[in-house]
Amino acid sequence: MISSYRGRLAPSPTGFLHLGHARTFWTAYQRALHANGTLILRDEDLDPQRSRPEYARAMLEDLRWLGIYWQEGLDVGGPYAPYVQSQRRELYLAAWRRLVQDGFVYPCRCSRKDLVRSAQAPHDEDDEPLYPGTCRPVSAVELPASPAGMNWRFRVPDSEIVAFEDGHFDRQRFTAGRDFGDFLIWRRDDIPAYQLAVVVDDADMCISEVVRGADLLRSTARQILLYRALGYEPPRWYHCPLLLDEHGQRLAKRHDALSLRSLREDGKSPETLISAFAAK
Ligand code: GLU
Repeated sequence: MISSYRGRLAPSPTGFLHLGHARTFWTAYQRALHANGTLILRDEDLDPQRSRPEYARAMLEDLRWLGIYWQEGLDVGGPYAPYVQSQRRELYLAAWRRLVQDGFVYPCRCSRKDLVRSAQAPHDEDDEPLYPGTCRPVSAVELPASPAGMNWRFRVPDSEIVAFEDGHFDRQRFTAGRDFGDFLIWRRDDIPAYQLAVVVDDADMCISEVVRGADLLRSTARQILLYRALGYEPPRWYHCPLLLDEHGQRLAKRHDALSLRSLREDGKSPETLISAFAAK
């Protein structure tokens, strides 16, 4: 019998999948399998500058080559093509509207330059710098017809500790306003930001456990605030340790030598890769 466990694989088609993704996705697959649950594939293609259809195609091929199976996605164009974020804009817009109406978000006119100037060092590579609060409004924000043309930020409750139990890393605690600031939920170029899209989708797809890389631990704290603001029940969390290269740097899509494509071309079998990271 299928259980109520619902997990997801949520790659962004901005490069080829590498060994680090393989390990995280393998863990997600195994956890769904052991729970006798359902695994969903979602293509997180919201960034038009960085997303490419050829990477989306490659990611399907690479996942299948690894032997990862999912049970749900859009049932078009072959067995379980993924859900595609760029086709789900209406859902994100509805969430944006609710957040404006309920006073959780505000428009921000700071330029990238302003932010760089005022930024304190971001905590991790790719992490959003702490926003200094320049555009925080003092009174209620009117709901415009569309979010376009401005960045929109979630106002975090300063000094509140956001704590959660992680399936791998145990108890986690982050302080709003210190470990992360008012974060983006919608971008000036009219694209929902990652934090909003991922929460709306995980809630809409009834995900019961989110399995992903440890680089997103701090984002989980941000997302918990969004779950609360939108009145959704948060899932359980399981963050996987990141794989490091020989210089101790976390793997990124630029590490071509460790892309699943190159490893496959070098004659590595999926079984060898899986047994290597299962042993760690
Ligand atoms: N799409 C994100 C990425 O590839 C992962 C999002 C998530 O798992 O929450 O980094």
